[in-house]
Amino acid sequence: MSATIDETLIRDVVSEVLNRLAGGSGSNGSPATPPRQATPTAAGVDGIYQDVDQAVAAAKTAQQRLAAATLKARGEAIECIRKICLEQAEELGRYELDETGIGRLDHKIEKLLVIGQSIPGMEMLTTEAVSGDNGLTVTEHAPYGVLGVITPVTHSIPTLACNAIMMIAAGNTLVVNPHPSGTRSAVLATQRFSRAIREKTGLDNLICLIEKPTLESANAIFTHPDVEVLCVTGGPGVVAAAMASNKKAIVAGPGNPPVVVDETADLEKAAEGIVFGAAYDNNVLCIGEKEVFVVASVADGLLDAMGRHGGYRLTGEQVEALARAAIHKDEKSGHWLANKEFVGKDPDVLARAIGLEIPKGTQLLYGEVGEDSPWLPCEQMMPFLPIMRCRNADEAIRLAVKFEHGFGHTAVCWSRNVETMTKMGKAVDTTLFVKNGPCMAGLGAGGEGFGSYSIASPTGEGITSPMTYTRVRRCVMVDNLRIL
Ligand code: NAD
Repeated sequence: MSATIDETLIRDVVSEVLNRLAGGSGSNGSPATPPRQATPTAAGVDGIYQDVDQAVAAAKTAQQRLAAATLKARGEAIECIRKICLEQAEELGRYELDETGIGRLDHKIEKLLVIGQSIPGMEMLTTEAVSGDNGLTVTEHAPYGVLGVITPVTHSIPTLACNAIMMIAAGNTLVVNPHPSGTRSAVLATQRFSRAIREKTGLDNLICLIEKPTLESANAIFTHPDVEVLCVTGGPGVVAAAMASNKKAIVAGPGNPPVVVDETADLEKAAEGIVFGAAYDNNVLCIGEKEVFVVASVADGLLDAMGRHGGYRLTGEQVEALARAAIHKDEKSGHWLANKEFVGKDPDVLARAIGLEIPKGTQLLYGEVGEDSPWLPCEQMMPFLPIMRCRNADEAIRLAVKFEHGFGHTAVCWSRNVETMTKMGKAVDTTLFVKNGPCMAGLGAGGEGFGSYSIASPTGEGITSPMTYTRVRRCVMVDNLRIL
């Protein structure tokens, strides 16, 4: 299926919204006034729960009601979520940015608009039939029941909304343990989705959210007998925990997407696409470009061109100074990790940390590194992009594979040589492999195909869809009902 994202419409709405945010926004439109608070909650009201057992019990009853309800009501419930994402994108986007301090307001708004417009729903659920001498067999895609959901801080409301649309479309209900640092946003969105769904359809508790999430509440969801399947979206810690659980788990884990640029690439387009992708929401997307390997003969051309598309080039010393300020080596795992205070921050915050003033409107900092730079293995999730010069495409591909860490998540290639693309696609073996476009083209924005906020690489479901959250059932009639 191919969902279309009307990019012009989205851009117009975003720019109109930002224009209305008169005076008082930060360099990338950071909020100036605190937005409205979520309504104080009582247990079980509007889908908000303190206790996992209560939340699962409510979600189980709700799932039985949803299964008995008409498909029309199910469709209306999903429309309620879409409508809120579309009509309240500005308020919810602001609210989440205010709570988490991660990302950019224009992109927070855009992400919700895209979800409202084009995340696939019930239209994606198929029924297959085979008829023959021995009768008719129908294969249908049924709900699992109650799904346990873990959401990341980087896209608290988008992941909640996207998962809810897809999971409810398939007839499931959700019990959600949001990231503690994005919980207020998740509560506000859940309350609004729940009220709208109840008013429209009479259905309640389709989304049950734990108001004070902890590792213990996550574990209670992971082990609850009435939670049929887990869908977790996050970094290595939650991936390991979900994989170690005894349940079927759909696991959307971390990425460190490499980009290869070879000597045949359209450098101007590559520079524009790389800056756009890596700067998006200040580089917190799991699919966002995290390191670039460029063939030496075109490296200067690419580095110069990135400066013409909103990039600000750092010197080697500045790149090292930024590494000392913004990332660190975790002693236990030996992995390079982002310092939390820089995750998803605007480029000027990174620049100031190394005593640098940058032009207003700068989208992304970038600079050259060598193979031993800590920036290459690090999923930095901040608007700095390391660029490494390579002897040839083969070396660039080898390093792309090395620094993708075998996550199998996302990789990008800019080339007009189909052999380079093929070689890289085979070698890097990722769920998403985008050629000649920014990373988000892999999720339908500028490329073909639908989008999702949970990309399940470790467990192999890929770009999740409503079909991901179904179990396959076969209904067989022997000798009859073939009417031909
Ligand atoms: P995170 O791993 O810190 O947290 C993700 C969620 O997991 C949170 O709700 C957190 O409370 C929970 N969690 C963490 N450790 C846990 C454990 N041991 N047991 C149970 N729950 C646990 O990640 P984050 O900072 O919120 O998000 C960024 C990470 O998520 C990045 O690595 C990014 O690549 C990844 N991500 C992946 C996708 C995808 O679709 N593959 C999408 C978004 C983000």
